[in-house]
Amino acid sequence: MRFYGTSAAEGIPNPFCFCPVCNHARKMGGTEIRRRSMFRIDEQMCIDLGADSFQQAIEYGDFTKLRHVLVSHTHEDHFSYMMMNVRNMSIDRLEEPLHFYFTDRAYDIVDFYRQSRPIMKGMTADLEARGVVAFHKLEFNRPVTVSGMQVTPLRGNHRGNMGEDCANYLIQNEDGRKLYYGVDTGWYLPETFKLLENAALDVLISECTFGLTEGRGLHPGGHLDAFSCMELFRQLLAQGTLHANSRIYLTHINHFTSTHADLVSWIQEQSFPCPITVAWDGMVI
Ligand SMILES: [Zn+2]
Ligand SMILES: [Zn+2]
Repeated sequence: MRFYGTSAAEGIPNPFCFCPVCNHARKMGGTEIRRRSMFRIDEQMCIDLGADSFQQAIEYGDFTKLRHVLVSHTHEDHFSYMMMNVRNMSIDRLEEPLHFYFTDRAYDIVDFYRQSRPIMKGMTADLEARGVVAFHKLEFNRPVTVSGMQVTPLRGNHRGNMGEDCANYLIQNEDGRKLYYGVDTGWYLPETFKLLENAALDVLISECTFGLTEGRGLHPGGHLDAFSCMELFRQLLAQGTLHANSRIYLTHINHFTSTHADLVSWIQEQSFPCPITVAWDGMVI
């Protein structure tokens, strides 16, 4: 599994921004650079196909074998509709359509694309008819099998463009190992805590959007920060979602306060039974 991008919507460095974090990223490069969030589960499946996916494909692996895209929500950093037409313009490609999965009200954006002339000259319905893309609607808390894995979207505390709740994905692969991708999520909703009770995750990938930004409270809606993340991890450990052998990765990080190096050293000072890693673009699990 590979992180294709680990930033929040604006990326680091935001090209218009000369804040200390963005200037530091320009100077240092490497792990300080964050492209918009995307996660490749294997060659066939990924979570999100966002604003930087073209460049990410060049750097971390192309999409010639990609078959399934789990869309977390409709914000543009996570879903870039233009990629549908990029696939359309490929000459040799897999015959079957690229399957996009939208959960609950996020699926409403499909009808908007179908009916909207200014979106790719109104081509969406034609791309569907010609088998370039296919759209599927998932329901929260209902498991489906995608590419041999059990995929369950759980409700995040984060609203997308269609007013939908963001989908956070619980994914169990064929050998039983479990991954939870909580990006974007905010402080978990009561139903989500409940559904994750005793889940005994092998891997938790969590947003840590606001990094070391203080004063947001320990249970923020919309997005987490390092402090609310630690509070969340303690609660998940107490209810059996995490255990001592779980591994936690932080992603979806913005430029508000902390550099990658700042966040890494703060995390190293925390005492928590599971190893916590601040992810970087290109990192392989
Ligand atoms: Zn986001
Ligand atoms: Zn900045």
